[in-house]
Amino acid sequence: MAEQQQEYKVGDRVEKLCAVCNEERGHVVATITKRGQVSRVDCPKCGTRSSFKSKTRLSGTRATEQTAAPYDRTRTYRPGQTMMHQTYGMGEVTAVIEPQKIDVLFADRLRRLIHAQQSEGQ
Ligand SMILES: [Zn+2]
Repeated sequence: MAEQQQEYKVGDRVEKLCAVCNEERGHVVATITKRGQVSRVDCPKCGTRSSFKSKTRLSGTRATEQTAAPYDRTRTYRPGQTMMHQTYGMGEVTAVIEPQKIDVLFADRLRRLIHAQQSEGQ
């Protein structure tokens, strides 16, 4: 099949209107069908899991140029805070696992950032 469809993986980000938060926001892909299509997504803000209709046309990248402070590993983050990561771009903190381990929803997917004690290059 030559049809090129975007394939998602669990942890990827999709935009969806959350009925609970009543706003369109980034959701985290929770389950995927065998054909690589998103079936369920989690709202990182309220935790609601809802079904995702792939028919929903994504209106491209929204031109909301939000301003966020650069990611600072010495900082303590809370869920809901935004940051500008030099590699991944704009992100929103969705969960704090440990004081030095946070989940951040970036434009493409959810990533776990670990503030290393020592700064070792990647
Ligand atoms: Zn929500």
